[in-house]
Amino acid sequence: MQYVLVSACLLGEPVRYNGQGKESGHPVLAQWRTEGRVVAVCPEVAGGLPTPRPPAEIRAGLGGLAVLRGEAPVLAKEGSDVTLAFVHGAEQALALARSKGIQLAVLKEGSPSCGSGYIYDGSYSGTRVVEQGVTAACLQAAGIAVFSELQWDEAAAYLANLG
Ligand code: SF4
Repeated sequence: MQYVLVSACLLGEPVRYNGQGKESGHPVLAQWRTEGRVVAVCPEVAGGLPTPRPPAEIRAGLGGLAVLRGEAPVLAKEGSDVTLAFVHGAEQALALARSKGIQLAVLKEGSPSCGSGYIYDGSYSGTRVVEQGVTAACLQAAGIAVFSELQWDEAAAYLANLG
């Protein structure tokens, strides 16, 4: 069985910063759930952060790789430094993926942990940057393919090609 790592909020779990989920009704996800191949993770909760929690962004338009290299902090909106929790959460997600031989993930777009196509630039102005969140960057650096909830069909095709 090829398992797929999926952001817990996309499964409807109320783990987002605002205490809500963001369940996807996409048929690819529904099929994977029926097949029992979905492994849920919320890196921010795994990293020790509470729910609800203040929103956080990576500083200065930088991305998850910069955070992992110690070159950028993750700051909550009220100013506290949550970098260690984000990095710990990414490591937890990677350890979970490795324990199950996971080769692909579908993670919530735009999140400072899970975003893969874009995140926000650290100014809390809603400005997007083409960068990745900390967990997305960590998984990709380990060779795991990361898709977003805008790419279920691409993820399904990738899974099919794994054989
Ligand atoms: Fe969802 Fe990822 Fe944010 Fe957790 S860290 S709430 S899984 S987007």
